[in-house]
Amino acid sequence: MKRQLTKILDLAEVRVKSQKILDSNLILEVEKTEKTASCPRCSKVSRRLHQNHWSLIKDLPWGKKEIFLRVNRRQFKCQKCASPFSEELDFVEKRQRYTKRYALSITEQVVKSDLLNVAKQNNLTESEVQSMINQVAKMVFPLNLKGLKRLGIDEITLVKGQGKFVVVLVNLDTGKLIGVISEKKSTKIEKVLKSWGEEILKQIEEVSMDLCKQYKNIAEKLCPQAVITADRFHVTKILHEELNQGRIEQKKTAEALEVQARAKLFSTIKGTKYILLKREENLSKESKEKLSSLKEASASLQIKHELKEEFTRIFDQSKNLIEGTLNLADWLVKASAFLPKTVRTIKNWFAEIVGYFEKKTNNGMVEGINNRLKVLKRCAFGFKNFDNFATRALLHWHLPNSLA
Ligand SMILES: [Zn+2]
Repeated sequence: MKRQLTKILDLAEVRVKSQKILDSNLILEVEKTEKTASCPRCSKVSRRLHQNHWSLIKDLPWGKKEIFLRVNRRQFKCQKCASPFSEELDFVEKRQRYTKRYALSITEQVVKSDLLNVAKQNNLTESEVQSMINQVAKMVFPLNLKGLKRLGIDEITLVKGQGKFVVVLVNLDTGKLIGVISEKKSTKIEKVLKSWGEEILKQIEEVSMDLCKQYKNIAEKLCPQAVITADRFHVTKILHEELNQGRIEQKKTAEALEVQARAKLFSTIKGTKYILLKREENLSKESKEKLSSLKEASASLQIKHELKEEFTRIFDQSKNLIEGTLNLADWLVKASAFLPKTVRTIKNWFAEIVGYFEKKTNNGMVEGINNRLKVLKRCAFGFKNFDNFATRALLHWHLPNSLA
């Protein structure tokens, strides 16, 4: 029986000595199989038992049964130092009342749901759950960023309407969140990057970002060797905004027309925003018809739309840096009279934007991360403590399989 319980318990270094059921919980008395321990000061192996130290440690439940381990953390006396020391136990940290694997399991539940629920379901207090999360965090952080080569910087608003941005750092090769900063202050962002250490910063080959001067300055300062690339998604967004603005202006000019003509133009323009912005090849037959009557009604929208389609083709099809650069330069000449704002932005960020043709880096995954963060925020109890939120968010992407 004891041997079978030891097997089921599956903690490599201990064996079950006895078992008992108390208030429908199972209590297993366990002890390390090893008869000796080495002194943490002089590392001399000692077998002289000094004292027994029993404590009750909560472990993973077995079905609905709660499991407690009655653990003896033995104290030995070192013959060399002549002072006592406690033995190490891999599965539980000193002074903790639960096993590492139990803390990990609770943390896994919290990053998928919310703290309050997890506490309730597991018969724990909120502060117990928080302390388990902290314990796991202590073992996971600082994150191992050794393989980091392509860094993405982006921002999102987590609290709608407050205009407050949270800065999101992503490893673009693994698609994992590697940093989240409570505000868009350069000093704060730099502090996080510097905390990664010189070695990590030096190995970064590319930093991909939206069209933000501030991020560019930070990247140039801290990762001077890295190529800065502008994220394609953000360039396209600016183009789309200007194209849609053109649509809205067409509506305004319609107001000057006489009643019948106005009504006709209005109905042609109405509800065409997404038809105009979406890739033409992905439109339904009905939408395509709507698009062609819109283009018939407005010569300027026709040109702008065709420029937008060409822009997409350039980014989809250019095979290398030279081809892409030449195509984009041509496009800028054609577009300058029709999409002046987009053209100006692209000129300002030309080197970073054509960097795309070389690296083909696309921050598409960042959007997925941002969406996940919004969900996590809703679950983060209160969201008053940003550090707790950040810890939980990072753990979501970096929880290990085990803590042994
Ligand atoms: Zn010693």
